[in-house]
Amino acid sequence: MLELTTPVQYVKGVGPKKAEALAAVGIHTVHDLLLYLPFRYEDRSRRLCIRDISHDESATVEVEVVSLHVKQASRRRNFKIIEVVARDKTGSLKAVWFNQEYLKDILTKGRQVRLYGKFERTRLDAVVEVKSPQLELVDDPEAETTHTGRIVPIYERIGPMSPNMLRRVVHFLIAGLPPGMPELLPESLRERLKLPGREEALSLVHFPEEDAELEQYNAFRSNSQYRLILEEFFLFFLGVELYKAEAQNVHKGRSFLVDDRIRKMVRKILPFRLTKAQRKVLKEIADELGSSTAMRRLVQGDVGSGKTIVGVLAAVIVIEHGAQVAFMVPTEVLGEQHFANIRRLLEPVGYRVALLSARLGRAEREVMLEEIKEGKIDLVVGTHALIQEAVRFSELGLAIIDEQHRFGVLQRNVLREKGLGCDLLIMTATPIPRSLTMALYGDLNLSVLDEMPPGRQRVETLQKDAAELKGVFELMRSEVEKGHQVYFVCPLIEESESSDLRAAVARANSLREGVFQDRQVALVHGRMLAVEREKIMQAFSRGKIDILVATTVIEVGIDVGNATVMVIEHAERFGLAQLHQLRGRVGRGPASSKAVLVTYPPLTPEAEKRLEAMLATSDGFEIAERDLDIRGPGDMFGTRQSGLPLFRVANLARDREVLEQARKEARAFLSSSEVNSVEGQNILRSVTERWSGHFEIGVGG
Ligand code: ADP
Ligand code: MG
Repeated sequence: MLELTTPVQYVKGVGPKKAEALAAVGIHTVHDLLLYLPFRYEDRSRRLCIRDISHDESATVEVEVVSLHVKQASRRRNFKIIEVVARDKTGSLKAVWFNQEYLKDILTKGRQVRLYGKFERTRLDAVVEVKSPQLELVDDPEAETTHTGRIVPIYERIGPMSPNMLRRVVHFLIAGLPPGMPELLPESLRERLKLPGREEALSLVHFPEEDAELEQYNAFRSNSQYRLILEEFFLFFLGVELYKAEAQNVHKGRSFLVDDRIRKMVRKILPFRLTKAQRKVLKEIADELGSSTAMRRLVQGDVGSGKTIVGVLAAVIVIEHGAQVAFMVPTEVLGEQHFANIRRLLEPVGYRVALLSARLGRAEREVMLEEIKEGKIDLVVGTHALIQEAVRFSELGLAIIDEQHRFGVLQRNVLREKGLGCDLLIMTATPIPRSLTMALYGDLNLSVLDEMPPGRQRVETLQKDAAELKGVFELMRSEVEKGHQVYFVCPLIEESESSDLRAAVARANSLREGVFQDRQVALVHGRMLAVEREKIMQAFSRGKIDILVATTVIEVGIDVGNATVMVIEHAERFGLAQLHQLRGRVGRGPASSKAVLVTYPPLTPEAEKRLEAMLATSDGFEIAERDLDIRGPGDMFGTRQSGLPLFRVANLARDREVLEQARKEARAFLSSSEVNSVEGQNILRSVTERWSGHFEIGVGG
């Protein structure tokens, strides 16, 4: 007897070898396999007799084998063609298979078979032909119309397991399941939304009922599919909420209330009027700082939306209460930029700001560490070394993590290890579609800066064919002559790092020796020593370099207001998020700026879509949504590294609206009395099994 927990290896038609392939994609048990849904469905229920078949028609026919011939394909040895003539009461047809010689033992004369395929009948009187049709033996007691004569599931192949094998195995599985599968959605929810039970849903998503609507299935919106998608998200959000509750128990943060004195201080520091979005986000932060639980907040705001000042004002609240702030950035260069900005804002009012730079001499560093420990420094800027090296604070009240492009993997792990119990503010310039944010950062509270400060330039974006490079150089030339600076980005793809690097080197040389002989051209790339790279970046930011040729190492924030042109060569090779980040490097000063996307044909349809998106909008969130549509979530982030929870049934791009609904339902369930029922407790138990270990900031550190 099969159970949900039975290892797939023991399922008929699997065995150890195939089980290994299944395990590689996370399918270990019968239950896992049941959650491996078809990626599309095909209607093979249309049955015809031979006489009624027309050209190019897909249908199922039931026929009797008349004869079979094995032919040798002429040029390639060992390549066999099987030709079968078969008939029904109305006519005969020819079916052809390639390289499946074993069929000659199966398709013996007189055998009744069902064939599904696309038939060819060039003239009315011509023989009906079909190539590589789906085959099912009518007299096989086990066949029971699995592959033909119905709406059939099409699975993505898993290693040695073909779509047909998977269909056979799953069909067998479903037939052999013990009744009484546990429910994972609360009864009231099921009733209110008229959802099928779990057992029924799991069977129908593989083998739809006879009168099912194909289109609904292929859109993943049949009742059964919908139920399973909702269920997966529902359990996920229960996990999120349970985690949050637990985290709040572990981190009892200090409450930093805002009073009139602090308000006055904030006004004194502010160099400009905050945007409405900044005010809204600052209020959300202040409210959370003021509560007695530790803040766990993510601020999302596109490049240039003014995150820094929001972070600084949050810091002011904490510093005014006598606690310290750590302001963390991903690179030394950014550290220097932030330090300069923050110092300009905070030192006039008497705060002590420090930069813990890798460049400090040993003695200087010791002194600084001591001052941090004694609480003589209010705010310290540094790279993640600040937490990694466990810098000691007198009282760390708030940690701010800025420019988090890499989806928080590193920081999350580090924070967990260090068990950082203070308030935490993460600021990211990577716009992520809302659905992904909920999935990636469901355990954080979210603030969005969805408005640009006044005066920021819209970057004009152009697409140029590689044949027009000369014109691009002229554009660069005229900007450089105005005293502006230019980025020129060459692609770097990991598999061919050295050849791409050669291309970047060659490009730098050709600019240096050709059009821009009289100008300063420099090259930075990922193979350089970090110190050297930083030296060049610094020279660029001081205006000593006119044209910076770079591989994508400059993607991570660098702020040079005088740079007005961003040329991206082979733009068709870049991802949308990357293109958007790169474009955000210009348009930071008063002069108008351009991004030039140089493309080399032919472009894939996906590349076309990416470029189209770049030309159509500069709104990072819209770009992110389009990116999700083009690529799908699995592709958008390497799931494992990013910590993106792996949804098996649901798809974050396709199922956005179900996600929202699931969150609402999960919260409602947790505050209802249903949680305490036997069923409710079972549901919570399965949440723990599925999601424990996924949300880990700080807890258990
Ligand atoms: P990001 O969100 O990319 O970190 P920054 O914080 O660096 O953006 O802000 C970008 C620029 O906009 C900075 O020069 C900053 O001083 C300026 N800025 C931020 N907020 C405002 C505002 N409300 N009014 C005017 N300028 C602002
Ligand atoms: Mg910033």
